[in-house]
Amino acid sequence: MTREVNITRMDAFTYRESIKSGDSVMLVPVGSVEQHGAHMPLGVDTMLSTKIAELTAARIDALVGPAVSVGYKSQQRSGGGNHIVGSFGFDADTVVGVCRTLVRELSRHGVKKVVFVNGHYENYQFIYEGVDLALRDLAGSSQGASQVMMLSYWDFVTPQVIARLYPDGFPGWDVEHGGVMETSLMLEYFPELVWMDRLIDHAAAELPLYDLLPADASLTPESGCLSSGKVSTAQKGQILAESIMAGMVDAISSRF
Ligand code: ZN
Ligand code: MN
Repeated sequence: MTREVNITRMDAFTYRESIKSGDSVMLVPVGSVEQHGAHMPLGVDTMLSTKIAELTAARIDALVGPAVSVGYKSQQRSGGGNHIVGSFGFDADTVVGVCRTLVRELSRHGVKKVVFVNGHYENYQFIYEGVDLALRDLAGSSQGASQVMMLSYWDFVTPQVIARLYPDGFPGWDVEHGGVMETSLMLEYFPELVWMDRLIDHAAAELPLYDLLPADASLTPESGCLSSGKVSTAQKGQILAESIMAGMVDAISSRF
């Protein structure tokens, strides 16, 4: 990467210079700290949303703000469940509050165009709530309005790429937790943090059409993953990333 896009690696003077036009677009990655089986680290969701945000920002002359790693509770049908040691489930109030604060603080800095890039399935509605409350806060202030886009990066994988990468049928993004997409993206960007020799292979989890609390731990596969990442490769990661970033570039530049 030639130009630095991540403001947390900039000094304050460079940061202020980079946003002084008043027209900057800031991408804010939102992840989690969550178990991803035996073959990947706890930081997968934060690492991938940050990397994708940085590579996308570099293409559209945008910036990347502080990554949020206080993700909402892992749910059994999309992340294995928050009963599993290794997952850190933050209360909704926390996630909402952090997102609300980020929109408000960016507005105070003069950044009025914000894109939340979600990388943890369970976060989405709480990001949405934080943004909605922040816009309500700002409506009564002298700072002027902000515009905020929210997305989960996997939604930009095209049907063509899904058909090509999942020839035996696509299990759905909810059970992708620790599966082919996340493992392939990790192999592409952080190969030193993927241990394929430790991967536990199994069929995609079959979960009921309801949630239970306390969770029935027997419903989550031993691996902690909801589908197998066995056939993951860095090349698949590259194809997925290209599809995701092309879609995000289109979406962001069409609105901002
Ligand atoms: Zn994940
Ligand atoms: Mn997750």
